[in-house]
Amino acid sequence: SRKRSGKNGVRFFDADMLDIARKRLETEQFIDQGLREDWFEAHLQPIVALSDGRVAGFEALMRLHHPQRGILPPGEIVGIAEENGSITRIGDVILSKSIANLAAISAIAGFGETYLAVNFSPLQFEPALPARLASLLMENDVTPPRIVIEITEAVLMLDNPAVREVLDALSALGCRIALDDFGTGYSSLSYLNRFPVDIVKIDQSFTRSLSTSEKALRDKSRMLVEGIRTISHQMGCTVVAEGIETDEQWEILRAMDIEFGQGYLFSRPLPLPALVDRLAEFVPEERAAVAS
Ligand code: C2E
Ligand code: MG
Ligand code: MG
Ligand code: MG
Repeated sequence: SRKRSGKNGVRFFDADMLDIARKRLETEQFIDQGLREDWFEAHLQPIVALSDGRVAGFEALMRLHHPQRGILPPGEIVGIAEENGSITRIGDVILSKSIANLAAISAIAGFGETYLAVNFSPLQFEPALPARLASLLMENDVTPPRIVIEITEAVLMLDNPAVREVLDALSALGCRIALDDFGTGYSSLSYLNRFPVDIVKIDQSFTRSLSTSEKALRDKSRMLVEGIRTISHQMGCTVVAEGIETDEQWEILRAMDIEFGQGYLFSRPLPLPALVDRLAEFVPEERAAVAS
């Protein structure tokens, strides 16, 4: 829009605002139509044990599959869906589809105990959620400990008693709670104390800087990650590192006793059929042993 606008600063601004408004309207239309015509999909990304590369679970990541535009990632969709409230309906679609996907994966030898992590926005913590989740689990023959609820500080910062009650109910049901993007917010540490958190996910920005060529940054990041790991373990949490893209990052994190990781090195998020093909490549010896 900058190129099309004149020299006048005000007109730059207007053109940009118009572009943003248009784009937003388009995304809102995609969301509405996507809910009506079933365009939302739950892609899954493996979460592996860093000690041996075995698949421990999967994170469900929302994709809007537009028939003409192809796969749209959640970036803009989630923000707009949170603002207009449609995130509760989208979230329910992702929850039911990803649990069905987990049930399908469970039928593959060696993957019967894997878990499913699902991202939740603040608005999704409605009073009806625990009962809804319990019934989806029954229908799909999945036990509650195999479900991880991923939340960010945004959920905990609300400090809303109703949200707190839903979190406690999910925890009482036997589901686990993960604190996502840890280390990127304002006061992450205190949340470990005040909420029933079981898993800490170290943000991918830390993983990236662990292997940077810039030595001072690398050393500081290592100390930070070791600090987060030590505190998390002392609070009884397991740790997952996000965004692992290289063997070097895997090796560094494994040497630090970080239990789990996910990233493009192991697999990108995939739709179910592609994931099932990909799973055949994971630690075949172990799968053969389990299957026989
Ligand atoms: P997140 O929960 O932190 O998810 C991890 C993001 O990192 C995903 O981006 C994933 O595709 C990406 N990722 C995984 N491995 C790598 C890697 O090795 N390198 C890099 N550069 N990226 C990697 P995605 O799928 O675009 O999702 C972005 C965010 O959107 C998520 O961040 C989450 O906050 C939100 N989101 C995704 N699905 C849902 C959903 O169903 N509901 C809600 N409320 N939010 C969702
Ligand atoms: Mg997440
Ligand atoms: Mg994350
Ligand atoms: Mg993230």
